[in-house]
Amino acid sequence: MLSLLALHGQVHAHNLSSLTSLLSSGSIVEAANTTSSPRWSEYEAPSPTSVVHPATVADVAATVKWANENDVPFLTYNGGNGWATDFTLDHCGIYIALDLLDSVTFNSAKTVATIGGGALTSDVSTAGYAAGSLVATGTCDCVGFLGALLGGGIGYLTGEHGLLVDTVLSLQVVLADGTLESVTASSNPDLWWALRGAGPNFGIVVGAEVHAYPTESLTAWQATLVFLEYQLDDLLAALGNLTLPAASSLTLLYVSEGGTPAIIVELFYHGTADQGTAAFASVLAVGPVSTSSSVNPWTEWNSGSATACVKGGYKPTWAAGLADFSASAFSDVFDIWNDLVTTYPDAADSDVILNWYPMAYARTIPESSAAVAFRDSVSLFPSITVSYTDPSFNSTAITYGQEARAVWQANDGIPGSNYTYINNGFGDEPLETIYGENLAKLQRLKLEYDPYNRFNQWFPLLGKGRA
Ligand SMILES: Cc1cc2nc3c(=O)[nH]c(=O)nc-3n(C[C@H](O)[C@H](O)[C@H](O)COP(=O)(O)OP(=O)(O)OC[C@H]3O[C@@H](n4cnc5c(N)ncnc54)[C@H](O)[C@@H]3O)c2cc1C
Repeated sequence: MLSLLALHGQVHAHNLSSLTSLLSSGSIVEAANTTSSPRWSEYEAPSPTSVVHPATVADVAATVKWANENDVPFLTYNGGNGWATDFTLDHCGIYIALDLLDSVTFNSAKTVATIGGGALTSDVSTAGYAAGSLVATGTCDCVGFLGALLGGGIGYLTGEHGLLVDTVLSLQVVLADGTLESVTASSNPDLWWALRGAGPNFGIVVGAEVHAYPTESLTAWQATLVFLEYQLDDLLAALGNLTLPAASSLTLLYVSEGGTPAIIVELFYHGTADQGTAAFASVLAVGPVSTSSSVNPWTEWNSGSATACVKGGYKPTWAAGLADFSASAFSDVFDIWNDLVTTYPDAADSDVILNWYPMAYARTIPESSAAVAFRDSVSLFPSITVSYTDPSFNSTAITYGQEARAVWQANDGIPGSNYTYINNGFGDEPLETIYGENLAKLQRLKLEYDPYNRFNQWFPLLGKGRA
């Protein structure tokens, strides 16, 4: 049963039935709840009245037009993993959920993948593996393929193929006025630039054509190394001297296992076990207390991060962007995190994650090619997630999260600025930290393409609320 709200700008049951009548038969309109639209983190999460699942691209456009005519706020819902505190939907708006638009197809040469706006990372790897053609994605199966891409997109293949935005050939987008436009580098250079980095501010991307690589290996070597606290200094020293080859990536985690701090290093090499072992010889030489490794098919590359995908609970997350690895910063953050998880057992699942990618190839593509601010500056993407279930812990979580972020920012190796990857931001960062020197141009384009500020939920370029 849908909530019946009667205030201006809120969803009337009458209005919803008028929407339903506009949509094709496969579309669904239902009450919003944690089953119909779960979020990765409930911390300051939006709580819409209803969820619309358009069955077709035309239904997405019709829903946006209907929302405009009825003054109903809306938010695109894809993988539901966005955690930033910018969401202002409250109880008076709707989700436009893209899950019915999850198709992934390939051209006959397998060089182009056509991906629906609501396809998850796992939809892409499953279809790509079956087709025998590799596509660059994020590293967690639950993440919306386009949710990650529209902010830049980083993943295992960043070192070989650049950011996810670098792999796009065209974007099909429903704009703020409800019109559908196919955007390419030549058809609309401004929108093409803005969508690839600040996408959620400019429209609902209902489909994308991206490069696919049929000649590449669909297997990779992966290893999980476990270290204990007494090994931290040696490990951090080894990481400080590490250079990542293009085919590799590294993830560093601080997690508490039954009250004991564990430092986990996950290694990835798009190649053989011998190549991976050689690339990470200095890290392996530190002598992990446990090592497991295997050569895995593409469909299993993200298996190790499955627990990170679990939705629900409070998981505010603070992140930074680093040019270089700073052993002292990661040592200081270890102390902050260890104090958190040992002092507060309810927050024992809190963790620190560093995603580290070789960026040399991405930097052969000009920074001006897309609205991604960090390309030429940042290689390491650390974050701290404070996990708990009782919202009375919020203020304590903020203290720890801000403290860890401040350590990283003070040691980020970027003269004069801080950058945070938009998809990792907490939501309190100055817009310059998110958009860098692109901010003024993005704000000008925003006035042109969304003058009424309908897309105002994701590091909003013109502030919160409808103009
Ligand atoms: C467990 C986990 C793993 C992650 N791994 C990675 C990773 O490997 N690489 C990486 O780059 N990032 C990663 N991220 C960050 C992730 O990219 C962002 O959280 C991203 O915003 C999530 O997109 P979503 O579609 O899953 O979430 P949602 O909350 O549904 O969407 C996030 C924002 O993007 C907008 N949006 C989503 N899809 C569209 C669309 N088609 N058109 C227009 N707007 C859209 C939404 O409106 C919202 O504002 C990860 C996050 C989590 C929680």
